[in-house]
Amino acid sequence: MIVAIDGTVSSGKSTIARELAKYIGFLHINTGAIYRALTVKFLNNNIKPDELEKIKNAIMSTIIDMKHVDNATKIFIDGNDVTQIINTPVISQNVSHYSKIPEVRGFARFLQHQFAGANNCVIEGRDIGTVVFPNADVKIFMTADVDVRAKRRLTDYEKQGKTFTLEEVKAEILARDKEDEERPISPLKPAKDAFIYYNNGSDIKKVILDLVQIIENKTGYKI
Ligand code: C5P
Repeated sequence: MIVAIDGTVSSGKSTIARELAKYIGFLHINTGAIYRALTVKFLNNNIKPDELEKIKNAIMSTIIDMKHVDNATKIFIDGNDVTQIINTPVISQNVSHYSKIPEVRGFARFLQHQFAGANNCVIEGRDIGTVVFPNADVKIFMTADVDVRAKRRLTDYEKQGKTFTLEEVKAEILARDKEDEERPISPLKPAKDAFIYYNNGSDIKKVILDLVQIIENKTGYKI
């Protein structure tokens, strides 16, 4: 079974997808991590988003791996563990410039199918229910008020020792949503058959139980 969770920046979908997957015993796949890992490689090699030939060559020589170690998922690019660095502000600020490139999306889609394999999985991103797995058994589109999302992101950055104002973080979130929503290929939008879930609260358990209910009602599967 495939449970697709798409949604806006900092809607809390990664935390929820991870905890939901644990709760129902499914594999968790965070597809944003793939785009972020590629962004690390492009920036490290000084490849700009408009340098298509360099991007294609870099993709051809790239190996991305996700490994589940001690209850956490680690992501590796060309053998290097980039789990920490992918969530730093510089990657967040640049990832959408690369994720709109068709060749980048094609490579990421190939990996998403490979990682999902024949497993039961909770897979999260921007275009999972619309493009990557249009026949997903359950589709959820998660969002929240922009102030709630900005506070979440600010807290993440503070944990990394990075100082920003709430207004700066809000601007970053809105800019990335806009870029993801307005790109011609696989834009961020809810699938027609998605359940829209507003994740404005802080009670993770409640969200998980709500989603379990949605899954059970939609599929008849008993968790
Ligand atoms: O989910 P996360 O914020 O980590 O995603 C980072 C970026 O990767 C998004 O802003 C978007 O540009 C891109 N992305 C995408 N399609 C996905 C997942 C992420 O375009 N399925």
